[in-house]
Amino acid sequence: MVQGFQPGTKARPGFPSRLGSSQPVAALPANRPPLPLRLHAPAGVGMDSHAVRQSMVNKLAQQGIADPLVLAAMGNVERHRFVDSALVNQAYEDTSLPIGLGQTISKPGVVSRMLELLRNGSTSRLGRVLEIGTGCGYQAAVLSHLCTEVYSIERLRGLHDKARNNLRHLCLANVHLLFGDGMAGYAKGAPYAGIIAAAGGETLPECWLDQLAVGGRLVAPVAVGARSPGHQALVVVEKTSQGLRRTVMEAVHFVPLKSGIA
Ligand code: SAH
Repeated sequence: MVQGFQPGTKARPGFPSRLGSSQPVAALPANRPPLPLRLHAPAGVGMDSHAVRQSMVNKLAQQGIADPLVLAAMGNVERHRFVDSALVNQAYEDTSLPIGLGQTISKPGVVSRMLELLRNGSTSRLGRVLEIGTGCGYQAAVLSHLCTEVYSIERLRGLHDKARNNLRHLCLANVHLLFGDGMAGYAKGAPYAGIIAAAGGETLPECWLDQLAVGGRLVAPVAVGARSPGHQALVVVEKTSQGLRRTVMEAVHFVPLKSGIA
């Protein structure tokens, strides 16, 4: 049920113009104009993904993401390595993209918003964090910069394997990939300083709240309004010594939280 990943096997290709090259790319001149966010098919050599990722981070900051650790982590992780090669030129747009088996990698705007809510302005890394819905492994990679240990669980074997492949070359020793039904959480890693879900259910599973540490926070999409089926909002739950404090935030649209494995 529980699987880690081994470092050291073949890395996925780099950003388009670096395909097949293991050579470092020449530094861009400091006075170079910013790259447009939409990248077109690579026309030449020497283009690195750093500038376009920085442009994405600037947009996130303009949208209101203020946590410097979240912005740095978003600038650090190469999102283009987590999407299909046909989609790399959209990797730094603020859009969700298909990752196979009917699932999607969330928009950078939503990922950074949820991580900011999870961290709640902390000046240091969080402790152990549980992610429900590994998908392609992108958010787990971002989380690895923001907490001491990441436990990330996925119910679809195909995506669990894909995430393991995507993350292998990063050799992130603090990311633990788990194959199983995240509706049961992962009791062995509890209590968690944070729990973050990338799939939305009708309600929050009780065991997630049980597995949250006192002082911990949970951020998840949850169905809202019995009269508006399919409508979800981000919910933040803080666990204090006095009990649970629940805050409903903005509307979101996530893939459904499902039970069982497949
Ligand atoms: N964080 C991911 C987003 C993946 S989309 C990324 O960066 O790519 C949400 C994922 O949640 C899907 O892969 C879906 O299969 C998974 N999921 C849905 N219900 C689940 C459950 N009960 N347990 C674990 N994963 C679940």
